Amino acid sequence: MTAASVPVGAGPARADRPWTCPFCPLLCDGYTPLPGPRFALADSRCPRAAEGLARFGDGPAHAVPTVDGRAVSSEAALAAAADILAASRQPLFAGLATDVAGMRALYRLADACGAILDHARGDALMHSTRALQDRGVFYTTLAEIRNRADLVVCLGTNPAEHYPEFFRRCAPAEDAPAGRQVVFVGAAAATGEGLEGCATEEVALAGDLFDTLALLAARVAGRAARAVPPELEALAARMLAARYAVVVWESGRLPAHGALFAELVQRLVNTLNRSTRAAAFCCGGGDGGYTANQVLTWLSGLPLRTGVHPRGLAHDPERYATERLLADGAVDALLWVSSFGPEPAPPAAQLPRVVLGHPDLAGTEAGVFIPVSTPGIGSAGHLFRADGGVVVPLAPLYADTLPTVAEVANGIAQRLRRDGEVPR
Ligand code: SF4
Repeated sequence: MTAASVPVGAGPARADRPWTCPFCPLLCDGYTPLPGPRFALADSRCPRAAEGLARFGDGPAHAVPTVDGRAVSSEAALAAAADILAASRQPLFAGLATDVAGMRALYRLADACGAILDHARGDALMHSTRALQDRGVFYTTLAEIRNRADLVVCLGTNPAEHYPEFFRRCAPAEDAPAGRQVVFVGAAAATGEGLEGCATEEVALAGDLFDTLALLAARVAGRAARAVPPELEALAARMLAARYAVVVWESGRLPAHGALFAELVQRLVNTLNRSTRAAAFCCGGGDGGYTANQVLTWLSGLPLRTGVHPRGLAHDPERYATERLLADGAVDALLWVSSFGPEPAPPAAQLPRVVLGHPDLAGTEAGVFIPVSTPGIGSAGHLFRADGGVVVPLAPLYADTLPTVAEVANGIAQRLRRDGEVPR
């Protein structure tokens, strides 16, 4: 395989057609990209999208693979990557910032060499995943919020800080209940598009975020609780009186053991559903995190932090965390994937590594670097949206010269098979 011969993003530049933004899990669509030295959006001032687009020129990149900092052919880079994985007794595939096809191919490659899979945002993803495993979840969609919510309670977050178009995407539909209230608990109230006609309000924390949620959940359930601030008492009453309350939280803002918070959110929502309608919405899963989790779950039956070991699958949300595996010396090779930009960057670990990444990640680091195309920029693809079950197609802005993650992963897997037995 040579990078120049890879048939990705076939067709002319797409800057003249509606575009879906791949830079956060809201996957906003229908935008008009304006070509120039750098693409810009005609119809959004989203700073996160602008930052993402600024990492790309108006045409294909001409980056080349490297091995130990030296430019090499694609063939040599794939062979070197296969050598690293073949020599590893326990490889780790991490970062995993890729699309559906990329993750599917990485799973097959992991199966070929017995790798453990974790995502760069694995800590945050595990909060919601563990709540799902332990108690089940009651999540809603952007469209459902738009059409039905008359009360939105943002717990410990102004979602627009990290997901700038959140309120625009959830803005009340024309036939939605009038007079939506948006309450920010322990966070500054947002302003701007999507909040016109909504009554916004801030409620202070009563202790920390966990304490506050515990008090709120107790009062919604009608249990006695000491020292409940009047504002929180009033919020509990409003949640019980709402026709459709939505609790918004952000997994990346929670500390360790955030799964306890996620579970309590679900308990609160379950209580409300005894007498009215309510649901939760978790902001998270960026850099392809939701996609990696969904694809791995449907292919293996287990979520991220799973090892595809020769004797079967093993899932361990604590032990299979990237940081812990590296700190414990429990893995002896790292394959890192970051196709949406130079972040998330690979950790500075002293072990053989393969990086499939945005061209800006090229450096003089030891190991193999293979520049890859970005879904939605240089190649087509699919990503899961923040609301779970919605898969959104991505159209490229131009036809790339770089291979996709799926093509590179398949190329490495072919060489592993060609080279015979893989030590495990
Ligand atoms: S909110 Fe997210 S998906 Fe929407 S334009 Fe901004 S970065 Fe892109």
